[in-house]
Parts: sequence; structure tokens; C-alpha cells
Amino acid sequence: MSEPADAVLQVALPLPLPRLFDYAAPDPAAGDIGGRVRVPFGPRELVGVVAAIGAADPGAPELRPILARLDPAPLLRGELLESLHWLARYTHAPLGEVLATALPAALRRGESLPDTHAWAWRLTESGATALAGLRTGSRPRRLAELLREAPRDEDALDALMDGWHSAARSLRQRGFVERIAVPASQLAPAPQAGPVPSAEQQAAIDAIASQAGFAPMLLDGVTGSGKTEVYLHAIAHCLARGRQALVLVPEIGLTPQLLQRFRARLGVPVHATHSGLNDGERARTWAAAFRGEARVVVGTRSAVFTPLPDAGLIVVDEEHDGSYKQQDGIRYHARDFALVRAKALGVPVLLGSATPSLETLHNATSGRYGYLRLSQRAGDARPPAVRVVDVRKRPLEAGLSAQMLEAIATALADGGQVLVFRNRRGYAPVLLCHDCGWSAQCPRCGTPEVGRPMTVHAHGRRLQCHHCGHRRPSPPACPDCASLALQPQGVGTERIEEVLAARFDGVPVLRIDRGSTQRRDAMQRLLGELGTRPGILIGTQMLAKGHDLPGLTLVCVVGIDEGLHSADFRAHEKLAQLLIQVAGRAGRAQRPGQVLLQTHHPDHPLLATLIDGGYHAFAAEELEQRAAAGFPPFAHLALLRAEAKHAGPPLAFLQAARMALEAVRDPAAGDDASPALSGPMPAPMPRRAGMHRAQLLLSAGARRTLHAALHAALPAIHALPEARKVRWSLDVDPVDLY
Ligand code: ADP
Ligand code: ZN
Ligand code: ZN
Repeated sequence: MSEPADAVLQVALPLPLPRLFDYAAPDPAAGDIGGRVRVPFGPRELVGVVAAIGAADPGAPELRPILARLDPAPLLRGELLESLHWLARYTHAPLGEVLATALPAALRRGESLPDTHAWAWRLTESGATALAGLRTGSRPRRLAELLREAPRDEDALDALMDGWHSAARSLRQRGFVERIAVPASQLAPAPQAGPVPSAEQQAAIDAIASQAGFAPMLLDGVTGSGKTEVYLHAIAHCLARGRQALVLVPEIGLTPQLLQRFRARLGVPVHATHSGLNDGERARTWAAAFRGEARVVVGTRSAVFTPLPDAGLIVVDEEHDGSYKQQDGIRYHARDFALVRAKALGVPVLLGSATPSLETLHNATSGRYGYLRLSQRAGDARPPAVRVVDVRKRPLEAGLSAQMLEAIATALADGGQVLVFRNRRGYAPVLLCHDCGWSAQCPRCGTPEVGRPMTVHAHGRRLQCHHCGHRRPSPPACPDCASLALQPQGVGTERIEEVLAARFDGVPVLRIDRGSTQRRDAMQRLLGELGTRPGILIGTQMLAKGHDLPGLTLVCVVGIDEGLHSADFRAHEKLAQLLIQVAGRAGRAQRPGQVLLQTHHPDHPLLATLIDGGYHAFAAEELEQRAAAGFPPFAHLALLRAEAKHAGPPLAFLQAARMALEAVRDPAAGDDASPALSGPMPAPMPRRAGMHRAQLLLSAGARRTLHAALHAALPAIHALPEARKVRWSLDVDPVDLY
């Protein structure tokens, strides 16, 4: 049905302006809504999405016409489009920016919806000839041998060989293999049977299967209790009903191991989407889901924007994980948006964790979510024994007490693997002059009042700021007093690696942190090479989850004391989650596990509660404190942030924003009718990467109050003259107040 002759397309463009833009087009129709168009914008061309059909404004100058319609049928439609409208309202962000965030980069740029055939690799003739010349046992050789048997699709390769990507790249460069398109296979290996579910698992599986329609559920299960098994049963049930399942996992949790397990067990193709894929691959997964071909999509944060025309189930694994919150641009929370979508789709949504966020736990205990518990480890695995090691007045070697070093030696001698957890990468946190007290500070992040030490890297040769990335060589002598007595202070993962490698000669020592494993598959490769041999893994929180380590019998936790004294209201929650998750890595299989927690504060209430009562005892106490202090989940927050080269403009802007928020207050209504404002004040990190930063915190008992005030005041805030002198952003439900 076509609209009146003067109808126009109202287009959402990816611009930081809270409005739609009118364009002329031949025969605008309701069927255009949700389709992409290419339009002129000033001297540029932009790709936008038609948000509405409107009437031309009679007084307005003649409209520019669109350049092209890009989609034969709308890309964004139905539930997804409506949920994205909701997200724009909730984040108070321009619709055009929200829609651009939701689309894979290739589609955002205007490329057409890709074909969704599968990709396979085959050996070329020259590859067949050259095969014998490849080094025996090398990855390229193994891959070439696999492909000599038959061309293999990429899912099959994922299941057959770790690290095949790099081997394929190197063979392709030499013309030995090629990548070919094959029809998307409806055939998948017959599903393998899993272990027989325990009674607790079965109860959870039955509870999920009995849900029709929207049903939020928390699956609260200790580490190693078999949550993934429950997901697999729930997904199989969803598939059996002919529906699609979406599984969100944390950035670090999406391992080849996990995908293999899903593929082997479900017997359907499993589509993955994560930041390690290129734009084309991500667009293909999106397109396959859009067409209903992808039945199971497993992905990280942005997978929450996957179209689900036949949705049946959404799973959010490790729902407490910080990587679900987008920290720039559109600051959405993938778990929360998954709940919104599940409600709109009318499907169950399963949130899993051993350490649920306090928000989710509160919703479960108050009866708003279904509450499923797995209290036992699966199979024969026993929970690890946790012991606190008091290191007050004890000599330390690279931050490790004698007791810990002995425990490591014993565990290795017994044929086990050891994980040393230190959440601080680099060699040492500070470079100090022993003669005059000078220390190396980041010139871009410190202020005269509060310095920011640079971390020592490369065994002392290099300095690097972990906040802004600034690097420089270490000075040969103290810049203040010319002394040569410059000493690294404290301990990072590099230094622990150095000391343990020297002490345990002949034992493999692997460091796993962002410094040593830049690429996604590097960690897999390192761990794969270690296998089940005795060895030591040293790492940051990258090691707290993800790859399964069945040989791990001892976990040593060092240097957590900083986290006990942080000012952030979520610091204790994050520390408790991290400790439980790291400890949970031990003793996952038949071997019993032990956890040693080294601290100078053995009596700290957090540690005492956590060790005596576990995560839930901690959470109950913490929730009481949150309630008393008026923090989430008992209040709702929004944070207005601003930054600029100088300290004045951010504060001036936020002061003006505060006045705009006060101006929309209804004086007749009570105090509860408007959010409490605190600030403007300098951010907890007042300077970063050369920018001065400040913030204004809004807090309200009811979401409605918060959103009403923002909705009323934001047009004025956007128009403030002070806004032009700063970079500012709004973060609804901030996770970090830094
Ligand atoms: P989680 O996701 O809770 O950490 P997983 O589902 O990965 O736990 O299970 C942990 C380990 O226990 C896996 O090796 C899994 O194969 C095994 N497992 C899970 N459920 C059972 C069961 N019912 N019987 C035996 N082993 C099980
Ligand atoms: Zn000095
Ligand atoms: Zn810096």
C-alpha cells in the first residue's frame, strides 16, 4: 500500500543527534520501515535505517532524495526492531546509533546481506604435490593430510584440529589449499550422548522444559556443577520444538573447546559470533540467523542483537561477567537486553552463574525470576579445599611465601598442574628510586595531586601505563637525582614467571595474560601444548574461566589485597566473584583440588565470610549493605560523564547539566519524584590519557523516576553551550563508576 504523494522517509542515521532525518524517495511505503537506505548528508553519504514514514513538512525547503534502497526486504523488523526502539529509549541514545550498533559492521557499511552457504577448505593440486615436503607432525602437514582425505567445512575443522586457522592461512599463501563455498549443510554429525544428569540437573532441565512463554530463570550452580549440561538439554529441547536458541557467553568463555562440545552434542550446525571473526563472517552468522537457517547461535556481547525469527530460548552463561556491559558508544548490558528480548519474544531466558550478580540474585530470591540450584559438583569431582595463608611478617620471594612454594613443589611432584593467579600483568607495578623516592609516573594519567605509576615490563626495560597504554623505555638513571638505584617494586605476572621458571627448572611455566596472549587462539595453543603434563600456569583473570583444565590440582592466589580496599561499591562483589571462579578451577576432574589464598589481611570480613559461608553468605551480607547505603539493586543509577583537555569545562558542563535536571523537577511532587544528584565531582580517576574527567551521578529508587528526569532534561543538556567544549556521555546502569 503506498502512502500519499507527499510522504517522506524518516531515516535513523548513525549520528549523535537525537532525531530522525527526512528524505524524499519514490513511493515511500510502510514496507520501507526497517530497511537500509543510502542517503546524502552534507557532503557525505551515510547508510541509515528507515524508522518511519511521515508527511512532508509543508514549510520546509525541498528534501534531498535518498540515493538508494539497499534491502529488498527490511533487515530490521518485528521484535528485534521494537526491542531496539526500547533500547534507544532506555539508554537515551539516538535511534540511529543504536541501530548501527545492532548491525554487524559489514551491514552497517551498506554491504548486501551475504550468502549463507558454508565454507570449506580443500587441497589444491600443488598442495597434493607439496604435501610430502611439509614438516612431519607440523600443523600445516596435519591439516594438509586431513584435507587430502576430503574437503572439510570449517565447523568440521574446528572439531578436528586446534589452531587450524593459522595453518590454513599459511598453506593458502603458498597456494596449497583454497577456501570454497559449499551449500550450507543440513547434515551434521549424529549427536553424541552426554552424561546421565544428576537429580539436581534433571530437576533444572524439567523446570526449564515446562516453561512456555517468557520465563526468566537463574541457574545458580557451583563451579563444575554441570550448568553447561543443563544448557545443552534445554537447547536440545528447544531444537526439538523447531525453535532457535541463542547462547551468550563472556568474551573469554567462547573457546574452541566450548564450540566443539556444543557441536558434538547438539547434532546441528552451531554458528559462532565473536570479536575474533572478520566482518564477513559475522555478517554471515547474522544473515543465517535472519533467514532462520542458524538454529543455534553462540556469541559474545553483541550476539544479543542476533535476529531470531523462530526464537525458542536464550541462555546467558556467566551472567555476572563484566564483559556483557559495553563500555563506550551505546552502553548497553547484553544480559539485561537479553531479558528484554526474551520478554518480547515470549521465550524462556536462562541466566547461569556460580557467582550471580547481586542484581540477579536479588531478583531470584525475591521470586521475580525462577530459581534453579545445583549445589554439588558433577560426577565424582569434589569441591576444592580453601586455605588462607597469612603472610604478615613472612619473607616473600617474588611475592610468594615459603609455604606456597612448598605447596607448588608438592603438587608438581604428585603430577598435578598449578595455577598461580595474580591479577596484575607486567614485571612490577612501580619503578622506584631507592635513593630519593622518585617513581615513574604516567604523564598522561596523573595529576599533580595524584600520580599514576607506570608498570614495569620486559624485566625492567620498558614502562607502560595500564590505563592509557602510554609506553617508554625505562630511564637508565633516576631523572631527579641521577642515582642508578632504580628498583622495580612489587610483583606482576612476569616477575612470578621469572622466579618460578628459575626455581622449578625443567617444569613448563606458562604465563597467560594479555601481554603474552594477544590473539584469541594463542591461549588455546599454549594450553594445548602443555596438555596434562605437570606444569605451572601463571595468569591474570584471563585464567579464571574459559578453557577447562582437568589436570589442575593447586590454585595459588596472590596479591588480592588491593581489591579489599577499593572505593568502588562493586569492588567487593567483583573480587568475591573472581576468587570463587579462580578457586573453582581446581579439582574439576577426579583429582582433588586445593586453593591457597595468600594475604596480609587474613581477618578481613570479606575473606572470612567467603571462606566460611561461600559466595551466598557473602552476597547476603553485601546485599544488606547495599540496601542500607542505597546502591543497586535497591536504587537505580545513571552516570553523566564528561572529559576535556582542561579540568574546567567538564565541571562547568556537568554543573549546567545539574541545573537542567533541577529545572525539570516538579516542586509540587515529593523528593522521591526526582533522582538524587551527586556532583559534579572529579571522576575517581580524574585524569586519563591526557583528558580531565568529571561525573554527575543520578540515583533514584524507581527506574521510572530516573528515566522521566533524563527524558525531560536531555534536550536542554544537548543544547547547552558548555556541551560543545567537552566529550560527554550518559551511562544508564553504570557498572563501573570510574
Ligand atoms: P559448569 O558449566 O557448571 O562449570 P560443566 O557442565 O562444564 O559445568 O560440567 C563440569 C564437568 O562435569 C564437565 O567435564 C562435564 O562433562 C561433567 N559433568 C557434567 N554433568 C555431569 C553428570 N551428570 N555426570 C558426570 N559428569 C558430568
Ligand atoms: Zn632518585
Ligand atoms: Zn596513562
